[in-house]
Amino acid sequence: MADTVADAVVVGGGPNGLVAACRLADAGWDVVLCEATDHLGGAVASSQPVPGYTVDLASAFYPLAAVSPALRRLDLQHHGLTWTHAPAVVAHPASATAERAAVLHRDAADTAAALDSEAPGDGETWLGLLDQWRRMREPLLDVLFGPFPPVPATLRLLRRLGRAPDAVRLARTLLLPLSQLGEELFKGQHGRLLLAGNAMHADIPAVAAGSGGFGWLLCMLGQDVGFPVPVGGAGALAEAIASRTKAAGAELWTGARVTRVVVRGGRALGVETADGRRIRARRAVLADVAVTSLYRELLDPDDLPDRVLADLDRFTWDLPTVKLNWALDGPIPWRAEGAHRAGTVHLGADDRELSLWSAALSSGQPSETTFLLLGQMAVADPTRAPAGADSVWAYSHLPRGPQPPGAALDLAERMEATVEAHAPGFRDRVVHRFAQGPAELEQMDANLVGGAVNGGTAQLHQQLVFRPVPGLGRPETPVLGLYLASAGAHPGGGVHGGPGDIAARVALRSAALGGLPGRALTRVVRHLGSDTSPRRTSAEPVAR
Ligand SMILES: Cc1cc2nc3c(=O)[nH]c(=O)nc-3n(C[C@H](O)[C@H](O)[C@H](O)COP(=O)(O)OP(=O)(O)OC[C@H]3O[C@@H](n4cnc5c(N)ncnc54)[C@H](O)[C@@H]3O)c2cc1C
Repeated sequence: MADTVADAVVVGGGPNGLVAACRLADAGWDVVLCEATDHLGGAVASSQPVPGYTVDLASAFYPLAAVSPALRRLDLQHHGLTWTHAPAVVAHPASATAERAAVLHRDAADTAAALDSEAPGDGETWLGLLDQWRRMREPLLDVLFGPFPPVPATLRLLRRLGRAPDAVRLARTLLLPLSQLGEELFKGQHGRLLLAGNAMHADIPAVAAGSGGFGWLLCMLGQDVGFPVPVGGAGALAEAIASRTKAAGAELWTGARVTRVVVRGGRALGVETADGRRIRARRAVLADVAVTSLYRELLDPDDLPDRVLADLDRFTWDLPTVKLNWALDGPIPWRAEGAHRAGTVHLGADDRELSLWSAALSSGQPSETTFLLLGQMAVADPTRAPAGADSVWAYSHLPRGPQPPGAALDLAERMEATVEAHAPGFRDRVVHRFAQGPAELEQMDANLVGGAVNGGTAQLHQQLVFRPVPGLGRPETPVLGLYLASAGAHPGGGVHGGPGDIAARVALRSAALGGLPGRALTRVVRHLGSDTSPRRTSAEPVAR
């Protein structure tokens, strides 16, 4: 006998799990969401390690959330969310001795003027890019965040672009390696720095195809909607999504770690939790969990085609992350003009050094360079620290692969030294400090395997039809009624709710059509995964 019966069970209460649960509950389904930890929101979380200072424990800036169709439909401002912005979006000093940083201002005219003052003509290039972005923004976002293959959205995008050669040129731009895109677009270094620093929010090496497109996307988002932060901390965003999901009628359980997805006859029938609870799912199980956890821990290998298991051996995580958090009794004393006003500061490497840094880390080699993404949160939201003080974090990455002992600590020391070099006197302002290495990040949220930021590499070989493993680029799994709803699924990492929303929409559509599309696609997924059926179908008694 099952303890609980629902139409759907969602495993994991990160943004994707919550968005999925909300979409299903809005459609009238009974939904139970099981979250392993005692808080909802996954990598959208904040805490107060020192009175008066709020620290975002993982994600912090939300341009993707601001434009995401899945989150915009939730009207989160009616559930307590208020966005706020720093006076400038991003700054990037080229070196520790640079007197002026490259700055992406809130106002495009200011960004253009700053670029022009370094290299006449670069401002016009920037405004031209923004103009093109604004013309195609809505269909492009639907292409990026919608289910794969995005046929109607692509047709709308092509219509918006007008001429076939323009579409082909855009595709080329998006595929260019960052190093080449920067040189093609900008005469001066500041434009290239803005592209390069933003591209490094994903783990695509600067010399690899696709890195330029990622940098371009974040630059355009930053110019268009800024890098907003929730007033009060990342936790306020998680609370708003959870509140909206609860209001839709979903039951949200915390302290409920799922240890098994029960499968019979090739179909997901429910889940079991670590404390022995059993929930039967009448229609679907949606998994907002790490790809490897779903396929290697929650499912019996006998329920999966051999080739899917073999493909999983090649699943690539993104680079391990080390994050440092500081409570300061004053602002960071930056040397470079322009860095004081930006919410996000990129530092420690210029565009050329980033090419070497990202190539070294990607191939598992240590690097002399220490590149940091830093957030000075009170610049955007004064509630994060006492008046005049700041709550600051920075993260950087270790090389891919096994780490020598002490690697995370060593990187943390180099990170702090890098900030001190760019802002002499920084260390004197630190009143509290704590570090999160790969192990601590994963302990906080099991999906952050080895401190992975994006649920698996963002490189082209693991995107679209290759995400999470070669297949359809869709949430269907080889198990009927089981959908992958985490950042490990298309469209990948970031707080936009895309994978959760797509999984829920696919589950709803499949149920509406009597399960036909689900059965057909599951068959295709199985076929892609194996020449034969699963080796054995587990016939365990189900939570019924
Ligand atoms: C350091 C860092 C900085 C980042 N910065 C940004 C940023 O500034 N902006 C941005 O947009 N994105 C950022 N990201 C990425 C973003 O946070 C993630 O891509 C996003 O949170 C993924 O959402 P998710 O729902 O797929 O998974 P998660 O947010 O990781 O949530 C997964 C949830 O599932 C739960 N869970 C896992 N296994 C089980 C189980 N077996 N049973 C029950 N529950 C389970 C976990 O406890 C967790 O709550 C950052 C990530 C990191 C790590």
